[in-house]
Amino acid sequence: MILDGRAVAAKVLAEVKTGAAALLETTGVRPTLAVILVGGYAPSQVYVRNKKRTAEEVGIGSRDFLYPQGCTQAELLETIRGINADPTVHGILLQLPLPKGMSEDEAVDAIAPEKDSDGLHPVNLGHLLGGNPTVVPCTPAGCLEILDHYEVPLQGAEAVVIGRSRLVGKPLGQLLLGRHATVTTCHTRTRDLAAHARRADVLCVAAGRPRFVTGDMVKEGAVVIDVGVNRLDTGRLAGDVDFDSVSKKARAITPVPGGVGPMTIAMLMRNTLHLAQRQLGKR
Ligand code: NAP
Repeated sequence: MILDGRAVAAKVLAEVKTGAAALLETTGVRPTLAVILVGGYAPSQVYVRNKKRTAEEVGIGSRDFLYPQGCTQAELLETIRGINADPTVHGILLQLPLPKGMSEDEAVDAIAPEKDSDGLHPVNLGHLLGGNPTVVPCTPAGCLEILDHYEVPLQGAEAVVIGRSRLVGKPLGQLLLGRHATVTTCHTRTRDLAAHARRADVLCVAAGRPRFVTGDMVKEGAVVIDVGVNRLDTGRLAGDVDFDSVSKKARAITPVPGGVGPMTIAMLMRNTLHLAQRQLGKR
């Protein structure tokens, strides 16, 4: 079975659209997202364009803070503080990576936790670790949404996550743990990664290595979530999972593209709506 991220994202976006319209009707306020982009990194420009277009489609306003020629760390922090203090903006998207030499940690820390649409502020990551998630990072939240949509049982399941980044692997492990899965996190120092992967009922791969997980590493009947997005020399996109061999073993698998990717944007919109609702006392 193909786990259709586009279809699940469309369902989430429809709910966000309804919620944004209801908020506008009851409070007269349109949920609004500040979009900060520093530098001219081409993939980030595409991501930002897509996020702004989706926001528009679901009735979320966006406010641009674009620095294509770059800016200093001090200017970036001043911009973030200005948005923190602006009651007409409810969420902040700081597109990463920042140009070399800038501190992402310092910039993320400067975002007010209650406006942190990406869920990467240490306070929000701390709530996740504490078992009371508030705003959850978009990509792992999207993975969980797909698993829930297809009613994949998580309680007691062996869940293996390959990757331990702040953006994906670590928060995804916490979300799965919160749902009572038995979670193993693998990384570059893991011994015999294939043996861990083969135990998984639910295998989530976020390593950034094209087609790295092959059929022989997957248990018959496993559910496989492929977070990877890798641009091949041919220009085509590939996941971290070798779809052809793994789909023969897996019971269900996300494709790339059309799996986790669309979910990330949808969850960003949901996070922004929820932040606006909280700030307006409607949640
Ligand atoms: P990252 O920060 O580079 O982290 C990669 C993680 O994978 C690290 O923890 C690394 O281990 C581990 N890893 C790398 N090679 C490995 C190997 N050979 N064996 C075992 N572990 C290995 O990447 P990320 O930001 O988490 O992103 C991961 C992938 O997801 C990328 O392809 C990215 O493009 C994609 N992504 C997609 C979306 C989406 O919307 N679909 C969103 C975000 C990311 P160490 O910690 O030991 O180095």
